[in-house]
Amino acid sequence: MPVGLMPLSTITWEDAIRYLVLNKADVILWHENWVVHSATWETQVPSVMMLREYMKPKMSVRFSRGNVYLRDEGKCMYCSDRIERKVATLDHVVPVSKGGKTTWDNCVTACAPCNSAKSDKQKGWKPKIKPHKPDYYELLNKRKKQEFNIRYTEWQQFIQ
Ligand SMILES: [Zn+2]
Repeated sequence: MPVGLMPLSTITWEDAIRYLVLNKADVILWHENWVVHSATWETQVPSVMMLREYMKPKMSVRFSRGNVYLRDEGKCMYCSDRIERKVATLDHVVPVSKGGKTTWDNCVTACAPCNSAKSDKQKGWKPKIKPHKPDYYELLNKRKKQEFNIRYTEWQQFIQ
């Protein structure tokens, strides 16, 4: 299996330098105007690197509000409105007060008005899409579909 370019795994510049120093990755692109210094040497900061050893992408996805938002494609699962990530809330389909768990199959993205109208009710509030645990590729594909800020324009070519 070829070494994958994993544009979605962004690392800090400190880690990038560490990979470089440990000779674990090849640099594909450098930041042109970003040079870091230590006492004894200086280097440009890598912008895109390819790890020498293939790293198996984690197939299991972590439960988080952000990943639920991604799974639900940024939409309120009750009124279907698109919501910004900053204001999206996590709704428990079966309310916590009724024993609902914070799990992939009991949590959906909801806008604040729906979430507060629903409160701890369950009757009459059915999510548009039955919540499920996504796999890695589902989230990856959904992530690709979303508009998101690309921090550096030279990344664009690796993301399409
Ligand atoms: Zn809503």
